[in-house]
Amino acid sequence: MVVNKYPRLLVLSYNLGPLQVVIFHLGALLPLMTGLSWQALLWGFMLYVIRMLGITGIYHRLIIHKSYQAPKIVKWVGSFIASSAGQMGPNWWKGHHIQGHHNHSDMAGDRHSPHTPYKGLKGFLWAQFGWLMTGDSMPHSLPADVEADWGLKLIDRLHFVPLLLLGAVSFWMGGLEFLGAFFLSTTILFHGVALVNSLAHTAGEQPFTTTDYSRNNWFVAVATLGEGWHNLHHAFQWSARHGFSVKDGKVVRLPDPTYWFILLLEKLHLASDLKLPSEVELLQAASETSALQKA
Ligand SMILES: [Zn+2]
Ligand SMILES: [Zn+2]
Repeated sequence: MVVNKYPRLLVLSYNLGPLQVVIFHLGALLPLMTGLSWQALLWGFMLYVIRMLGITGIYHRLIIHKSYQAPKIVKWVGSFIASSAGQMGPNWWKGHHIQGHHNHSDMAGDRHSPHTPYKGLKGFLWAQFGWLMTGDSMPHSLPADVEADWGLKLIDRLHFVPLLLLGAVSFWMGGLEFLGAFFLSTTILFHGVALVNSLAHTAGEQPFTTTDYSRNNWFVAVATLGEGWHNLHHAFQWSARHGFSVKDGKVVRLPDPTYWFILLLEKLHLASDLKLPSEVELLQAASETSALQKA
């Protein structure tokens, strides 16, 4: 078994992942009893946006794909916030995302493809949560660069602590009602992020030529603050901006709040060296261009 190569405490920590997913789904039923005031709704919405940006802007675009550079403190604070989403730490994330997704997109070896090992509705549900809950959710390997950063490693192994703290803060602020808003926000956030694996690999446009089923899906882009422009992401994994398309031989810029967040970090001198594809590169990778070349 793959997991045997990891120390026991790490396995224990990582196995808490599926358990906390079950707990926050059950907790999301709490508002049925307490109701939700507009203050509690606002709290839940705020937690959704901030933690989504932690996952998309820090985990995904900074730590995993290095689409821009940032000081350690941004990585640490951002990862602390992202791990309070209850979706594991940065090392686990990168281990899965590069090895388990980009290196084998929609082929055998992709850990959460809606096209393999299952198809149709079963494949969709597998990509949405099944792979995490019923499969082996341990990464096959951990990325050496993230493992070398002791701050990120600490957050990764103690990924459940920020989640517990945020739950406690929510309860302290507004009792069971705010705790329920926190659980509901965490549950919707979980499914919002998972839509990138499921819906953004099944429905939407494919303006760029890639070897997988990745799509630009506007609904997923709204839910994930820009990550739904997933076909662009598979074509240019290193791009800080995902919101690009090509129509009628022209580059189209699509709304990408995560990219706006990175621009804000840049203005605050907390981000630098943003990587972006040029117009020429985008047009060369466009599926309509390759269709023309084939004709
Ligand atoms: Zn993908
Ligand atoms: Zn990626």
